[in-house]
Amino acid sequence: MPESVLREASQAVTEVAGEGVSILGISHRSSWFRNVLDEAEENIRGLLSIPPEYRIMFLQGGATLQFSMVPMTLLRGRSDPAEYLHTGYWSGKSITEARREGPVRILKGSSLNFGALPSASELESQHHQNAPYLHYVSNETVEGLQFHRTVGRDDVMRVCDMSSDFLSRPFDINKYVIVYAHAQKNLGPAGVTVVILREDILSRVSDDMPAMLDYREHANMRSVYNTPPVFAIYITMLVLRWLRKEIGGLEAMDAMNQAKAAALYSALDASQNFYRGHAAVRDRSLMNAAFRLPTVRLEQSFLEQAKNHGLYGLEGHRSIGGIRASLYNAVTIEAVMNLCAFMENFQQQHGRESELNESASMKAAL
Ligand code: PMP
Repeated sequence: MPESVLREASQAVTEVAGEGVSILGISHRSSWFRNVLDEAEENIRGLLSIPPEYRIMFLQGGATLQFSMVPMTLLRGRSDPAEYLHTGYWSGKSITEARREGPVRILKGSSLNFGALPSASELESQHHQNAPYLHYVSNETVEGLQFHRTVGRDDVMRVCDMSSDFLSRPFDINKYVIVYAHAQKNLGPAGVTVVILREDILSRVSDDMPAMLDYREHANMRSVYNTPPVFAIYITMLVLRWLRKEIGGLEAMDAMNQAKAAALYSALDASQNFYRGHAAVRDRSLMNAAFRLPTVRLEQSFLEQAKNHGLYGLEGHRSIGGIRASLYNAVTIEAVMNLCAFMENFQQQHGRESELNESASMKAAL
């Protein structure tokens, strides 16, 4: 989180200015909280130029619940399969849930270990115009793969999980019917998920849908169908305010994110394969860089020493191991430069050791 946001949030834990109560006790029905929700919505609209025919909702259940709510709304009872891109860990999870609701056709590229995303030409022949919708994950958080284009064809409705790159760069909402993103990366703390949904999708919700899973209820009740996570939404609103007023919008945020990622990937590329990036160069994520070191032992000492330098949270996801550096919006360029300097020093200390190990294992193999 940006420091200015943390300061304001901690003040609100003691007392919300002018309200005489802590944010942890304030009513979600208060006019103060209504203003928070309205400003959060207004800021998202402003940042992405979202037209009025899109509803913006703050829901619970994480992006994981959207893996179900989307197909419950758009796939139940359909005979044509929805198209799901399988590009990594999180899109895999979305497919498991969609299959419970109806037929799904998997679209994928040729990469066997999710080291690259399918190219437009690889996907071209796989798209089908009768698909009720196409679902994809814009940034595969675990593998560090990011689409740098809009996927799919304009005559099939697009749904996108943008959990790990939402508001890191501009995008055109008109290309999508539903975009969702849990807050925990660029937006705020866990507990709130932003859903942007084109209004006509509401008419597709079936009447037997449980109310909590019914987009109509949430849209009509303007995100207070039941008790919402007030604190998480408040922080999200502060982050959105920061993005607009302090950063100056998404073009500026994107430029900063590009600079951070360029610094980190140059450090990887300069290491002559000591640090081995997981993602194909053209699909490298600006948000998450996943990489390996020559041995698991070196990775462990990398992580231990990184902590001693104040660099935390660099463990790769349990499903692929290795190292993952996340460069979300609030990570500063200074922090990235610190990481790069640490990486260079670490390699100077341990590069020779790994060369010796490699040549020893080559000799053994001969
Ligand atoms: N999609 C993506 C791309 C994610 O990165 C994550 C969480 N890291 C999820 C979905 C799941 O989100 P949640 O834990 O909020 O359900």
